[in-house]
Amino acid sequence: MNVKELDSKYIAHTYGRFPLTITRGKGSLAYDENGREYIDMSTGIAVNTFGYSDDVWAQAVASQASTLSHTSNLYFTEPCAKLAELLCQRTGMSKVFFSNSGAEANECAIKAARKYAAARRGNDYFTILTLRNSFHGRTITTLAATGQDTFHNEFLPLTEGFDYVEANNIEDLKNKVKDNKVAAIMFEFVQGEGGVTPLSKEFVDAIFSLCAENDIVTIADEVQTGNGRTGALYAYMNYGVTPDIISTAKGLAGGLPLGATMLSDKLSEVFVPGDHGSTFGGNPICCAGALSILSRLDDELFAQVKEKAEYIRSELSSADGVVSIDGMGLMLGITTVKPVDEIVNRCMADGLLVIKAKTKLRLLPALNIPWDTLKQAVENIKTACKTEA
Ligand SMILES: *Cc1c(COP(=O)(O)O)cnc(C)c1O
Repeated sequence: MNVKELDSKYIAHTYGRFPLTITRGKGSLAYDENGREYIDMSTGIAVNTFGYSDDVWAQAVASQASTLSHTSNLYFTEPCAKLAELLCQRTGMSKVFFSNSGAEANECAIKAARKYAAARRGNDYFTILTLRNSFHGRTITTLAATGQDTFHNEFLPLTEGFDYVEANNIEDLKNKVKDNKVAAIMFEFVQGEGGVTPLSKEFVDAIFSLCAENDIVTIADEVQTGNGRTGALYAYMNYGVTPDIISTAKGLAGGLPLGATMLSDKLSEVFVPGDHGSTFGGNPICCAGALSILSRLDDELFAQVKEKAEYIRSELSSADGVVSIDGMGLMLGITTVKPVDEIVNRCMADGLLVIKAKTKLRLLPALNIPWDTLKQAVENIKTACKTEA
């Protein structure tokens, strides 16, 4: 049996895969089993921050793999400690908990917020408000946090204590804060899976002032928006606010599984030994990969991210078949005249890998995608979007 046949026979059918087997990749280019080349603007869903198998990253990972691959969290290791230091220095946060995925980073954020609220205000202050159309993960608790009924229906009952606010609706936000005993508000600055929709500055300001007035914890889910994706290290930096908790994962380790939950000063002592843990969390190889990525996420790169985002917007906003463009930095959602599936398939046939978010075309290129590669990709997108063939 070939790879596709083996996969259909033995892999649980949770994914709708494209008819493509990727065998290798370098930077922004991927290759299939026949050696055909594709430009990749999906980066494993915002994971391959510097593209496939980046040389500097691969060297850091390989060197760590042959020095110390894994040990338990009963012992200290340098990559984990150094990465936590770097994250705290660059965000102003005080403590970090490492896990393996976005869902787990959010689970930790929820546990931290609930423990904090219970101690400060009483055991009945457990409700976490999230936003409609959000995405926070696939575990039973992060599914409850995800404000989309379609994800919930067949898995009830979910973890209790979640309520949902309409994104960018300040009235609804105020009412939900009044009607519940709220421990925390959790949100994505740009809703990724929900359609690449940024929160308005007014709505974000309303969240932060309501939370300050009511001693409610702010949790920024930066799993997708984090690690340079929006043209700042974390998206909150574009809004001039500071969350109490930041969760991140996806692009953090540039292609290895690593989640991080960062706690600000006021939550820094919330956990005591035994409260939380993860066997693989803070694994030395993953942390070495993340150190390599994070040390290269600097102002020069962010300027490039913004310049490339501007280029994509200016080229596509007036293109035939493009209705509008949403997003921030190199996390873009394009509304097209033609159905998005048609465009994604046409791009793939022409050698370009793009994905969708709801009904929009979603672009998540490597942050260092070369200009000539980007220009070719934009031409392919224009061709695919064209209404008259
Ligand atoms: C992808 C994503 C998650 C879930 O991350 P996993 O690593 O798949 O568990 C959570 N929140 C947001 C905003 C995401 O984009």
